[in-house]
Parts: sequence; C-alpha cells; structure tokens
Amino acid sequence: MEIEVRKLEERKGELLLSDTNPPMANALRRVLIADIPKLAIEDVEFHLGTIGGEDDKEYESAAPLFDEIIAHRLGMLPIPTDLELFNYRSECEECDGEGCPNCTVIYSLNKKGPCTVYSGDLIPVGENELRPVDDLIPIVKLNEEQALLMYATAELGTAKDHAKWQPTSGVAYKYYPEIEINSEECDECKECIEVCPVDILEMKDGELTVTDLEECKLCKACEEACGKDAIEVKGRDDKFILTFETDGSVSAEDALKKGLEVLNEKFTHMVDLIEDI
Ligand SMILES: [Zn+2]
Repeated sequence: MEIEVRKLEERKGELLLSDTNPPMANALRRVLIADIPKLAIEDVEFHLGTIGGEDDKEYESAAPLFDEIIAHRLGMLPIPTDLELFNYRSECEECDGEGCPNCTVIYSLNKKGPCTVYSGDLIPVGENELRPVDDLIPIVKLNEEQALLMYATAELGTAKDHAKWQPTSGVAYKYYPEIEINSEECDECKECIEVCPVDILEMKDGELTVTDLEECKLCKACEEACGKDAIEVKGRDDKFILTFETDGSVSAEDALKKGLEVLNEKFTHMVDLIEDI
C-alpha cells in the first residue's frame, strides 16, 4: 500500500492510499478507530459529607447530577497523552497495576457553588501539562451551598473497551472517483451540470469537463440526469482518500504513526500464526 500524507494538522489528517484494496484501507480505518491508546479517567473518588469553605460557610457534597453521571462525563474528557511515556496500568511492571506515575495520572477537583464546573477545574497532581485539552467543557452546574470535592485517576486504554479511550473520530475513507465522459454521445444539454451537488462539472470550449475530481461524492446524479449515457462515474477500488480527526488528546501524526505500528504488529502476528500451521 502506498500512503501519501495529504494533510497532517494538529487534529486532522488526510491520506491518499493507492496500490491497495478495500480490505487494507478498512484495516487501517478500524485500527485508527479502535487501537490507538489514550488516557481517560477511569476511577473517581467523591468526598462525602460536608465541606468547609474559606468563609466558615458549610457546603454539602452534592450536585444536581448523580455521581455516576459526573464520573461518566469526566471519563469522556480528552486528556493529553504522550504515547511514549505511559504504560497500560494492568501491564505496568513498576507497580503491578497498583497505580504509579508511569501508568496513572491523578486529578483533584474542588469547587463550591453556585458555579459551573468545567474540565479546566481538574488539576493534575504533579505535571501541569496533563491538564485536560479543552478548558471549557461543562461537567455540572452547582447550586447555592453545593460543592464537589474529588480525586480522579486517568489511565491508558483503547476504544475496544470503552469509547472514552477513542482519540479519533470521523475516520472514513472514500473510493477515489473516476469520471468518464463520452464527448461523442454528449449533446451539451447541461442537465448533468445542473444536478451535480458539488458543482464540479462545466462546459469548457464546448466540451464537458470535470473541474475538481476529488470533490465528487459518487452520487451518480449526473449519470441519472444524462439521457445519452455520455457520462459514467465509478469509484476505484485500488485508490482511496482516508480522513480522520482527533479530540486533541493525541496529535493526528501520533495517531497515524501508532495506527501503522499496530497494523504492522497485527499482520506480523498473523504471519506467525500461519507459519505455525
Ligand atoms: Zn504503574
């Protein structure tokens, strides 16, 4: 498979895959969805009972949402992840899964109402660069005399276990379009130009031409509109455009590198299994 990196922004990537086939393109898509690890909050410990304020005021450890819902919302927050630094907690040799700086990140949160608790209120114990990627994701609104005091622990995981460990989104590929125009059949009725939803057809010097082939959505509306069979739209099954985004916890570049690494491991494992037969 030939991979041309078309675009690799912080949170967005576009690749041109050629000399390949749909199963291979799909394998890369599935790896990008389910096999890229990231940190996400897995354990939350809520303080129970009253919480004293600085002004001698007493607050109740309560919020309008159930603890489980707050914990779930915390779990979904994107947390910056350096894939080189962290081990899976269950495989961590330093602590045997007990939790240590090599496999977990601990956050504290202490907010008193009335206010809205945001992702930016989570303070990592230790390194400041592990603050959630976006500061303004609302978690819960606290009323008068309500407060939230808790510790949360993030650890590595993959989307195979839970969607909170999925750093990528919108991972999709499309077949590379191919538009054949038979100018001998074309009677210049311009019906196809009218119906094209992405406006990529035009008449140039009396000939029907395609202005931006890659914009074609393969909807075949032009084919249907043409009464003369002068235009044919096909998707190539050896060339694809793959696009994906990340939630900011890992960069598009890191996600792609990790994806290719995992794919390579999977294929190597498969070859080993076949050789053992
Ligand atoms: Zn550990």
